[in-house]
Amino acid sequence: MTECVFCRIAQHDLNAKIVDEDGDFIAFHDAHPVAPVHLLVIPKRHVASFAEWTGVDPDVAGRWLLRARDLAASCGFAGAGYRVVINTGAEGGQTVAHLHLHLLAGRALLWPPG
Ligand code: 5GP
Ligand code: ZN
Repeated sequence: MTECVFCRIAQHDLNAKIVDEDGDFIAFHDAHPVAPVHLLVIPKRHVASFAEWTGVDPDVAGRWLLRARDLAASCGFAGAGYRVVINTGAEGGQTVAHLHLHLLAGRALLWPPG
């Protein structure tokens, strides 16, 4: 059995509040939200980080990014705004070694984040 928590969520082996899913991607609520809406969108197939997503079909990568945009719109934030973040590697603040993007919305988000 895989030890990767996000692979386990993708396989429905670990509980998560799933909001969207297709054959390639799954979106779910972050367990420790830092904004009123804090979703994670991951490819189901394990890849450790954005940096290591080499050889990916650009169409697949594009659909992953656009999924975040469409989720933000379906949550009602297309007008108010939101943030999409891809923490990558140690200095990028990545703590889970399965590629994911964060969709943050529902409050004013400071920039730069620190
Ligand atoms: P990172 O720091 O790697 O960019 O973000 C990882 C995110 O995954 C964190 O915001 C953390 O709260 C979230 N997270 C870690 N473990 C779990 C889990 O088991 N379930 C869910 N839903 N989120 C998790
Ligand atoms: Zn994984």
